[in-house]
Amino acid sequence: MKSRFSRMVDAVLFSEILKGLVLTFRHIFVRSITDTYPHQKRTLPPGYRGVIVHLRYDDGTEKCVGCALCEAACPSHCITVVSAEDPVLPQRRIAAKYTLDVTKCVFCGFCVQACPVDALASSPEYEMATWNKRDLVMDKKAMLQLGDRYFPKRQKRPPYTEERFALFNKLKTSTFPAAHKIAV
Ligand code: SF4
Ligand code: SF4
Repeated sequence: MKSRFSRMVDAVLFSEILKGLVLTFRHIFVRSITDTYPHQKRTLPPGYRGVIVHLRYDDGTEKCVGCALCEAACPSHCITVVSAEDPVLPQRRIAAKYTLDVTKCVFCGFCVQACPVDALASSPEYEMATWNKRDLVMDKKAMLQLGDRYFPKRQKRPPYTEERFALFNKLKTSTFPAAHKIAV
């Protein structure tokens, strides 16, 4: 505990203020660690989970097969999938409609892990500020555009051969007989 005399000296000389000023001046010459965003951007760590994007195969076709497993896995219920037959390849399915509400997304990456064809990925995109939150409901086109930007290296598309179609049709008819053949 300080004596009464030293407290009086401190009060007269404003020593506490002087100590504070010395500390402040010392930090003027220390290199700043603050990034001047947006002019200076941080280097993101590997595996950073930003906005979820859709990916394509090397021939440009989208990987998504509209199975809706991502929708089921999402804890925030921010994904909506409407599945349909591919108009070009009827044995293949696609997501006729796919929306992701980024305002609800918690960037957990569960959807990426749930996807059986690796059609989703966590991108390093984090600059999504907007005046209108409806702009943050992304459709498949917007997600594919982001995917093209951040993942230009694409996986080779597996061949859709006639043999595979034949095997699929055989399995389909043997496992699920046509409705008129089901005994009532
Ligand atoms: S990252 Fe998580 S919260 Fe966001 S869409 Fe995927 S599963 Fe849902
Ligand atoms: S993104 Fe993957 S999990 Fe989601 S609907 Fe498409 S194929 Fe299925």
